[in-house]
Amino acid sequence: MSLTKLVNYVPIISALALTACQGKPDKILLDYKFSQQEVNAIAEAQREWLEAADSAEMDIPLSVGFNSDEKPYGFLDPKRSSKAFFYKIDATNLGYEQLKAETGSFDPMGFALELTQIVFIEDKIQGLVEKGVYTTYGDAFYKIALHEYGHFLGLDHLTSPSSVMAHLIYDGVETCIDEETLEYYCNINECGQNKHSTCKGKK
Ligand SMILES: [Zn+2]
Repeated sequence: MSLTKLVNYVPIISALALTACQGKPDKILLDYKFSQQEVNAIAEAQREWLEAADSAEMDIPLSVGFNSDEKPYGFLDPKRSSKAFFYKIDATNLGYEQLKAETGSFDPMGFALELTQIVFIEDKIQGLVEKGVYTTYGDAFYKIALHEYGHFLGLDHLTSPSSVMAHLIYDGVETCIDEETLEYYCNINECGQNKHSTCKGKK
């Protein structure tokens, strides 16, 4: 393994710990603001976690149909329920500063609460492209989705700098579920016999 160049790194997430006190939600509602490409990326991120785990235990149906404009700061007061909510906001949202302050993170691209919500911050993700960390918005968004979905499934950050669950995005961080991350996942969720890293054969 070569040393990762410590340039262009940005903190992406703050995960808030939430005690698991009930089962998984029966549905994930997606903000109508997500583009079709973003909806597809979220679905693909979920599929990648399920494939790595070789288990449908955490297979939760996704559907678009939630309007964050009707509850613009709902992500500041998340409640665990039978439905999870995935928001899309940008950093001009008045709730963003409060979210930052509460999590102690200085420039997050997204936030997740276990089995409760994910918040994607569109213009901050776009910033990854402007900083040259990613060449396309789609690549950046997928990385955030895979990482945030890991938090949604109960994972905290890992110290390995190349893990998708690393706290910072570095040049060369993999967009796949590596062995260490998978073992961590399988300690807290069900995994099947054919669990496997999704990194092989992927750039
Ligand atoms: Zn994170």
